[in-house]
Amino acid sequence: MKIGVFICHCGSNIAGTVDVAKVAEEVGKLPDVAYSTDTMYACSEPGQEGIIQAIKDHNLDGVVVASCTPRMHEPTFRRTVERAGLNRYMFEMANIREHVSWIGKDKESNTQKAVDLASIAVAKLTQDRPLIAKKFGVNKRVMVIGGGVAGIQAALDCADGGLEVVLVEKTATIGGKMAKLDKTFPTVDCSSCILGPKMVDVAQHPNITLYANAEVDSVKGYVGNFEVAVKKKATYVDWTACTGCGLCTEKCPSKKATDYFNEKIATTTAISIAFPQAIPKKASIDPEYCIKITKDKCGVCEKLCPTKAIRYDMQDETVIEPVGAIIAATGYDLFDYTRYGEYGGGRYPDVITSLQYERILSASGPMAGHIKRPSDGKEPKNVVFVQCVGSRDKSVDRPYCSGFCCMYTAKQAIQTKDHLPDSQTYVFYMDIRAPGKMYDEFTRRAMEEYGARYIRGRVAMIYPKGDKYIVRGADTLAGTQVEVEADLVVLAVGAEAAKGASNLAEKLRISYDKYGFYMESHVKLRPVETNTAGVFLAGSCQGPKDIPSSVAQGSAAASKVLGLFSKDELESDPQVASVDIKRCVGCGKCIETCPFGAIEETDFRGEPKANVIETVCQGCGVCTSTCPQGAIQLQHFTDNQILAEVNALCQQPLVTSFE
Ligand code: FAD
Ligand code: SF4
Repeated sequence: MKIGVFICHCGSNIAGTVDVAKVAEEVGKLPDVAYSTDTMYACSEPGQEGIIQAIKDHNLDGVVVASCTPRMHEPTFRRTVERAGLNRYMFEMANIREHVSWIGKDKESNTQKAVDLASIAVAKLTQDRPLIAKKFGVNKRVMVIGGGVAGIQAALDCADGGLEVVLVEKTATIGGKMAKLDKTFPTVDCSSCILGPKMVDVAQHPNITLYANAEVDSVKGYVGNFEVAVKKKATYVDWTACTGCGLCTEKCPSKKATDYFNEKIATTTAISIAFPQAIPKKASIDPEYCIKITKDKCGVCEKLCPTKAIRYDMQDETVIEPVGAIIAATGYDLFDYTRYGEYGGGRYPDVITSLQYERILSASGPMAGHIKRPSDGKEPKNVVFVQCVGSRDKSVDRPYCSGFCCMYTAKQAIQTKDHLPDSQTYVFYMDIRAPGKMYDEFTRRAMEEYGARYIRGRVAMIYPKGDKYIVRGADTLAGTQVEVEADLVVLAVGAEAAKGASNLAEKLRISYDKYGFYMESHVKLRPVETNTAGVFLAGSCQGPKDIPSSVAQGSAAASKVLGLFSKDELESDPQVASVDIKRCVGCGKCIETCPFGAIEETDFRGEPKANVIETVCQGCGVCTSTCPQGAIQLQHFTDNQILAEVNALCQQPLVTSFE
């Protein structure tokens, strides 16, 4: 075999602590190496051209590049060798940057380790065989999970691009958190005035099918050909008949149902429509509070409904949706502030969350836009905002910044003064984070034009005194303790992963970080892709994001789907498991263990055997270690290939063969 080896300097990234010329010289002595050299930037155009030229000049059978992480450039170099006429799997990469030069300072030992890693790659390449990708058709439908502003934007962009879209929203209406906001920073324009038309567009778009009050039950398949089971939860109202007239909600005698849309600061009727601009504008019954469902009495809504839409016996229903791509846009949830016992932990009625305050400020909210204290309905004079509640706080395992709280607090301070000109606002903050366009100017406006008094320091405790509250904290700039008397305290609660996010991630087979936010394929260069082909991310499900960033990501995810669907056929990765039918005894252990359901039982001359569904297999290799017969091998990671690597490290010849 004739192998070419290229040792990359990566500027001084590798060459700073590795003698790359020496590595090339040492690896060049290996028996199968026909050509070995060092190169300044292997991934650059001249670097790639050098590889192509060497393949031609030396009639090479395969190439090893020792450089950076394969995560980024393995596809680049595979394309390079393919351009020179080699099979793209006759290529191996050794990571001598992240695994060597970036972690060790000693040049001599770094150089030796780089030689070892490059030699291992050469040994593996001697065992490599060309692999051929299979082609398969694409179902050009896309599912968007989550109907907040990010999901709405992604759905509309895909639908405008001519794709059929299935939008699945967990709650009874789309809109997400933005639908609950009164105004938006930094323009302080009405949230529903800008979101409302987009929500209506979703309802009216001929390419969009909306399932509200629905969740993803299971996901099967692979990029281009997913099959998603969507559970439509019972609403007890036939939405095909309901016109959203609201007669039922007016007459329902059960008025103590939890009002989730108004963040529980009010109650609602057992049969309700989330809010006047809800999409879809359909009623649903909360079975916990419905007198008919719980006690078999009442039935008022059924009697009154002009379209006979009430169905007390409705059951959950599952529909199967075949789609070629999925965009996860499940957003975020708010930190549970009751974990802060020192702030009252939910015991004081006038210590509320920022989202509850949005509902109080909103003209369509339970207080019709008049700021009143939940406890006694009085107008507050002193309103104290506490930032970073559940953000940047290791003690509650939330060390990250939620990004938008500084900004919405400034907005709420401005709005407070607009609503109540005699009021005084105070803001306890740690730092002001306002990096967006017009953001810093906006926070300054809150201070300078609207007189918000900013106090730099954490609040230590909040306690009631008479009908007021004392907010005690530190002023770290003045170096003193401060106590502010408040009529109303608004906690700027941080963002955390949406409830059930990790559960959905398991179904989608995507990764999530330790806080439950979904992980992108590459933080900088592939921010809306995941490591599962065909699954994309949009909005705050990936980490806290304000509206402009969520919208931008929704569009970005849509453009990725449109790009994916621009081809009529996709190629499957041939690095999948394959069964040696002679060794397989049909025990079925691999079928049980495969996390992707990629192995099925098949009949071979009257005997059960395992069969790998190549398009479903993700090449994880779990089956290969499960099979008691050693009958399954992972293409490109066969036992022989791995043994060759181990032997190269031990500098011994290949000890055994499984072939
Ligand atoms: P979300 O709005 O959280 O929407 C996610 C949607 O997905 C929801 O409808 C949810 O029900 C649904 N969902 C969740 N899980 C599932 C599931 N498993 N299946 C199906 N559906 C699911 N930003 C600004 O730019 N300007 C502002 O003025 C502003 N003010 C704010 C004020 C407050 C008090 C808060 C808390 C935030 C504010 N923000 C503001 C931030 C803003 O809320 C977010 O930027 C925006 O909501 C992110 O949109 P999203 O679609 O990513 O997520
Ligand atoms: Fe309300 Fe249930 Fe009576 Fe309908 S039947 S009016 S939902 S309590």
